[in-house]
Amino acid sequence: MKGLIKNVKLVRDAESEVMDDGMIIYEGNLITYAGKRTEAQGPFDQIIDGKGCIAIPGLVNCHCHAPMVILRNIANDMKLEDWLFGHIIPIEARLAGDDYYWGTMLAACEMISSGTTCFLDMYLDMEQCAKAVIDSKMRANISKNTLTSDSRIERGTLFDKQGYESFLKEYHGAANNRIRVSMEIHSLYLYDYDRIKESVDLAAETNSTIHIHVLETADEKRSLESKFGKRVLETMEELGMFRVPVIAAHTVHVDDADISFMKDKRIYPVHNPTSNLKLGSGISPVDKMLKEGICVCLGTDGAASNNNLNMIEEMHIASLIHKGVHRDSKLMSARETFRMATENGGKALGFPIGKLERGYLADIVLLDETGFHNVPGSGDPIAQIVYSMQGSDVKTVIIDGETVMRDREILCMDTERIKAEVKRIRKRLEI
Ligand SMILES: [Zn+2]
Repeated sequence: MKGLIKNVKLVRDAESEVMDDGMIIYEGNLITYAGKRTEAQGPFDQIIDGKGCIAIPGLVNCHCHAPMVILRNIANDMKLEDWLFGHIIPIEARLAGDDYYWGTMLAACEMISSGTTCFLDMYLDMEQCAKAVIDSKMRANISKNTLTSDSRIERGTLFDKQGYESFLKEYHGAANNRIRVSMEIHSLYLYDYDRIKESVDLAAETNSTIHIHVLETADEKRSLESKFGKRVLETMEELGMFRVPVIAAHTVHVDDADISFMKDKRIYPVHNPTSNLKLGSGISPVDKMLKEGICVCLGTDGAASNNNLNMIEEMHIASLIHKGVHRDSKLMSARETFRMATENGGKALGFPIGKLERGYLADIVLLDETGFHNVPGSGDPIAQIVYSMQGSDVKTVIIDGETVMRDREILCMDTERIKAEVKRIRKRLEI
């Protein structure tokens, strides 16, 4: 399969100059050319006219709980602890079977239609999630828990080594390498120290990236520091976590000492601005981390705390809040923010994605710039994407060289069935 996108405004990455008359050629799942219009060497199996569109690398959502779309708008305007322990966990306990599959399928529809081509997910029953990733044609890094429980409410009292190893064997590299597997350790606050240590050792043994929530709230920082008698990042080091890459969701309550501690570690903090604002958790010092050269990524978190999975909106919020809080309009430029949502995410998740460049995977999004809010369409297109554009401007999406959405129509999923299934599940939960 050889494809051509012609007549397109081309944003290859966060740094490069934008080309008004660009062209992309991809063969199989790889980009073979992305640059100025030239004599294309056909024949092509597919030609897309990109007139009126900006081509960007697919966005990378680095922290999500996809099936939580089922719980969208279930509990709002409350503290994280009340939200999580009083509402979310008891309702989650009623999810079962293919509920997770349908939730992930809906999340995939939402992500694709707002320009996300790859995501990192942690939740319950990742087999169902993996099946949905295969069927939705998305790319994903799927985090599998090693700590389980007999009880539906209690978390992580049992260490399931074999379950992790067989999941890794089955899905790491599955679906033409669209799936990678990492290890979920939900947080330091949900389990005993010894259980976490067993998981960390298994991550090192299997060379698995760890995906964990870190320092989301001030209460979490206080209670973990008093429980372990040291800084949270020091506890993570004592556990041996930094033997493997660590994707640390939230990192809101990190100070200067934490940031300098992170500098020589393989840590990828994930900024989740909407979720942190909505749950009143605080604002992560992302500008400082970026200044220190730390590879910060961007994520939506689950739809129960966001309440959507729209990375274009997430970029917009991320770029604005730091300017306002620090009264410095130079912080978090559009290009810095765009880099977090593209190539930084690719690095963290271990895929050659996040740039439109020869040798990168063909994950390509075309944004329609003909809407009123995009006119006149001059100026820096990356600023236009971050500050003016909407998720609904996403017109066509290619993942792994396959067109999954064309002219706003999702091609590979029965979207009406998916919506109906999720509504049915939600109805059952609320009985
Ligand atoms: Zn989360």
